[in-house]
Amino acid sequence: MTLKPKNCAGCRRLFLDPTGCGYCPECIQKREEQMAEISSYVRDNPRSSVAEICDALGVKKSLVIFMLQTGRLEETNIHIKYPCAACGKLILHGRYCKACGKKITGEIAERMNRLRQNAADKKKKGVYSKEQWLDKD
Ligand SMILES: [Zn+2]
Ligand SMILES: [Zn+2]
Repeated sequence: MTLKPKNCAGCRRLFLDPTGCGYCPECIQKREEQMAEISSYVRDNPRSSVAEICDALGVKKSLVIFMLQTGRLEETNIHIKYPCAACGKLILHGRYCKACGKKITGEIAERMNRLRQNAADKKKKGVYSKEQWLDKD
């Protein structure tokens, strides 16, 4: 299999992406440098906003939010609000606000419960099929 060149998500230049990360080596380097800058800026200004960080360092908003979402800035004891990935409400940790996080984990839990319930029902039906017929009548 030969690798097809693709456009870098940062500079749009064509490059080979053996790791599948979407960025060319130069942009990866640049992102790492910018992330280091953001980290040290945030350490000095723990209560700055995403917009202030972007203005001060000339970095992309998406990069700052990426760092916040992935917890790369958490150890610096920060207080920076950024939008929830689902509803856009301002949050301080993780990808989602409390409500969306609850909804998403709730949906997963519900699906798991339903699967478990289905399995249990099937088992029950096998054992108690007579009684269930009687109940219906
Ligand atoms: Zn690039
Ligand atoms: Zn939300």
